[in-house]
Amino acid sequence: MARIYNFNAGPAAMPLAVLEQAQAELLDLGGFGMSVMEMSHRSKEFQAIIDAAEAGIRRLMGIPDEYAVLFLQGGASLQFVMIPMNLRRPGKIADYVDTGSWASKAIKEARIAGATNVAWSGKGDNYTRIPKKGDLKLSPDAEYLHICTNETIGGIRWMQFPETNAPLIADMSSEILSRTVDVKRFAMIYAGAQKNLGPSGLAVVILRRDLAERASESVPFFLKYSTHISDGSMYNTPNTWAIYLLKLTCEWVESQGGVAAIQKTNEKKAGKIYDVLDSTDFWKSPVEKESRSIMNIVWRLPSESHEEQFLTQARKAGFVGLRGHRSVGGIRASIYNAVPMEAVDALVSFMKDFEQKAG
Ligand SMILES: *Cc1c(COP(=O)(O)O)cnc(C)c1O
Repeated sequence: MARIYNFNAGPAAMPLAVLEQAQAELLDLGGFGMSVMEMSHRSKEFQAIIDAAEAGIRRLMGIPDEYAVLFLQGGASLQFVMIPMNLRRPGKIADYVDTGSWASKAIKEARIAGATNVAWSGKGDNYTRIPKKGDLKLSPDAEYLHICTNETIGGIRWMQFPETNAPLIADMSSEILSRTVDVKRFAMIYAGAQKNLGPSGLAVVILRRDLAERASESVPFFLKYSTHISDGSMYNTPNTWAIYLLKLTCEWVESQGGVAAIQKTNEKKAGKIYDVLDSTDFWKSPVEKESRSIMNIVWRLPSESHEEQFLTQARKAGFVGLRGHRSVGGIRASIYNAVPMEAVDALVSFMKDFEQKAG
């Protein structure tokens, strides 16, 4: 079996144990003689799976009862649309922080149908840092403040979340379950599953229930949070396969000791790569130190031709997914929960070798 060193940004590496269990259960899940993809979503067998998926994520994140947990399709990108539709009432304003590609996509959607204040933008600095305390120009009457806690492309993350009176909404797609967060600080947390939770085609939404009541009559049923809350994420056929894999992924995180333990490992993994980047001038991290992501690490080499050589040789040595996003270039290693320490160690020694030969 040839498992490669996978540093893809998303879809991304999944835990080997999860894939093996899914493989073992593919023809016969729990003695029912069929796979999860062939079961009715209305069956009690599938209900048990979705309940366990929800319980898993609730346990891992410590989500209180006053929050609903939803499993929706359309990815994190549909949430960019649903958030302003549901949570910014007509005639009111919403605040957004523009920290990079993903935050600006959320802003683009928000602007379509209502007043949108960009409380801070990192665009002038090429999105290399998170704002400092006091940088944000918040609206006094904002319906909510939206942030992206980890910018997958720029490789920056909020170490500390902003203070705000408005409900705080966070896109945590590329860092959910990678570090402990106090859910009560947020009105809503959401994430596309394909980075840290499972396969693509599924978004997890964690929403304080009272906020679901804000949506006006003009919001289509399908796009209302209240619809999906009252139908237990089964207003229509959900992505049963992805929900099943999310359940297995939560079980795997628990088997690793939970989020706090995974966070320690993640910090160690990221630290090893940043240590190499900081060790000589051969490597350049464009990101401000205090803003460094521990999930997506970006860097540059002395020239673009060095970068091309690096990527070619890395591919030959069995590393994939290291090319930086096409919008920024350079190198990026995405080291989500499922990327093992061993892969990071192998990358670090490859980098040191490469530098010796090239430098
Ligand atoms: C990947 C990603 C998205 C987009 O997710 P989709 O499921 O493709 O819609 C949004 N935000 C962040 C931070 C991401 O990393």
